[in-house]
Amino acid sequence: MKPIRLPCPCCRQRVADIEIRLWKLGLGNEFSCEDCGTYFGAAEVEAMIAAWAPVLAWLRQAPAVPAPDAGDTTDTTPPPGRKE
Ligand SMILES: [Zn+2]
Repeated sequence: MKPIRLPCPCCRQRVADIEIRLWKLGLGNEFSCEDCGTYFGAAEVEAMIAAWAPVLAWLRQAPAVPAPDAGDTTDTTPPPGRKE
């Protein structure tokens, strides 16, 4: 199977050649990155997506605000999931 070009959760390359290893399906190492040579699984990809999900959900309902140098900056509510 031809590698597909996707972000790698291991080496953080924005576009890496990822091989899908169907013969490893469900074993946690069904992907390999041809850029960094790491094997990884669906759980790593899901964790990367899950880390962003609350921020994206918060953004969808956030009101538009002026640029910081253009006025009101009183709303300092952090996005969900942020560690203080
Ligand atoms: Zn990689």
